[in-house]
Amino acid sequence: MINIILFGKPGAGKGTQAEFLKNTYNLTHISTGDLFRNNIKNKSKLGLLAKSYIEKGDLVPDQITIDMLKNEVNKNHEIKGFIFDGFPRTISQAETFDSFLESINMSITATIFLDAKDSVLEDRLIKRGQLSGRTDDQDIDKIRNRFKEYNIKTFPLIKYYNSIGKLHSINGIGTIDEIRVRLSNLMNQIQ
Ligand code: AMP
Repeated sequence: MINIILFGKPGAGKGTQAEFLKNTYNLTHISTGDLFRNNIKNKSKLGLLAKSYIEKGDLVPDQITIDMLKNEVNKNHEIKGFIFDGFPRTISQAETFDSFLESINMSITATIFLDAKDSVLEDRLIKRGQLSGRTDDQDIDKIRNRFKEYNIKTFPLIKYYNSIGKLHSINGIGTIDEIRVRLSNLMNQIQ
């Protein structure tokens, strides 16, 4: 199995590049953001729980997120591997995730960090918000709060994955195709 974590700030291109990885390597794509948005759309209990956090640009509490993620992994059997997009986002999520994967004889192959600076990301998110209608992409204060959440809670994961030798970083600035080429080169080294 190849299990990849795609990691980076909002707007870094995780979802776009996850699509490429999914199609090229036949992997199953799990995006916690998409799962939350689907639950909100369907007005499920989970959606109602997550809605207020997402609307403010705050992270959804760990336990809610971890339970949803485990459930999704358990649903998929006999597959080539996963791309985890937007998960984990806190040290606690990463630690619980590692123990969970170990318990089902799985492990993370690599964590790929898509690196890009805030000014580029803000422009991308505002454009994405205009196209998709995502409310958390349309308000600069919400976007900045998401960056703040990332800096405080998610950034420490870089050190965490680096210390276990699983962190790979690529430049996330450029065209989608340019970034895809960098990602393919990295995937060739990882596999
Ligand atoms: P995304 O689509 O990955 O940008 O996620 C959109 C929103 O969903 C985030 O701003 C969070 O509110 C929530 N979310 C997604 N993934 C997680 C996670 N791993 N932990 C906590 N909240 C999350």
